[in-house]
Amino acid sequence: LVGIHSYRIYPCRGEYHVLDKNCSNLVSMLIYPVPPLESGGLGVHLTPTVHGNLMLGPSAEYISDKDDFSTSREIMEELIKEAKEMVPKIEKASVIRSFAGIRPKLVPKGKAFADFVIKEEEKVEKFINLVGIESPGLTAAPAIAKMVVELIKEKRELKRKKVFKARRKRQRRFYELNDAERKKLVKKDKRYAEIICRCELVTRKEIIDAWKNPLGARSLNSIKLRTRAGMGRCQGSFCLPRILEVLEEEFGFEALNLTLSCDDSRLFSDYSRKSLGKDES
Ligand SMILES: Cc1cc2nc3c(=O)[nH]c(=O)nc-3n(C[C@H](O)[C@H](O)[C@H](O)COP(=O)(O)OP(=O)(O)OC[C@H]3O[C@@H](n4cnc5c(N)ncnc54)[C@H](O)[C@@H]3O)c2cc1C
Repeated sequence: LVGIHSYRIYPCRGEYHVLDKNCSNLVSMLIYPVPPLESGGLGVHLTPTVHGNLMLGPSAEYISDKDDFSTSREIMEELIKEAKEMVPKIEKASVIRSFAGIRPKLVPKGKAFADFVIKEEEKVEKFINLVGIESPGLTAAPAIAKMVVELIKEKRELKRKKVFKARRKRQRRFYELNDAERKKLVKKDKRYAEIICRCELVTRKEIIDAWKNPLGARSLNSIKLRTRAGMGRCQGSFCLPRILEVLEEEFGFEALNLTLSCDDSRLFSDYSRKSLGKDES
């Protein structure tokens, strides 16, 4: 990156499992084990999410490819085994989704931890490098941001933008509302009455809003991240065709152009009925 080759990253993959919401009553707070020695992580812990799921993980696996986000059955079983030691009622069948993240470690397995690197590079003026921001990088993010601001201030004057808003009012989702609030919305706009994702109670109006937003969703994953459609127990098997219908009906969007994420990851190659027709003719 920008000609700086003095850092070596030791990728350490961590897999997580998301459990169905029917496990939410098993745990009411975060549960951590005593961190295992030299594991590279805090050990498998249980995290109730703000959306009512339970997450378990992460694993800590040093790998050679920093872009390998794959998950495996072996690690899944290992995580379940460790989680069961804390909460025996946890079952493999409750896992609805697995994913992995990569910790950018600055030291190899077995070595003591290395602190984050946050500095302006001598070789490249005005380039502030943030290296090895592994756990607890998320927790530390506000403090890191302040530190970077201070580094910039050392070199140039900074003025706060007049339009800067430190807090943004969070949009409440349909599923978070009580019956009276839902009725009010439905009265205002009938499109709130049509449920597109049954597991996460996402309405047609919310899908439309996500697409129409100035920073609009343009892929299935973007819709998912903005609305939670497809994040529930069935993982999108019910709502994917419904989302397509909404996009076609509301925006004339061609289903074949839908991608999984914002690249060329097209989900469909053709219409099966249409191609059948062509073959027959
Ligand atoms: C398994 C695991 C467990 C963790 N547990 C915790 C924890 O319990 N507590 C905690 O505080 N932290 C935890 N962390 C660490 C935390 O997730 C990271 O420190 C934090 O996400 C780092 O934030 P970031 O913004 O620096 O990088 P990222 O969150 O990685 O964000 C970088 C973004 O840049 C995008 N990007 C990359 N290249 C480009 C490009 N060329 N152009 C445009 N965009 C690009 C990426 O897609 C990504 O969205 C954990 C990490 C892992 C992997």
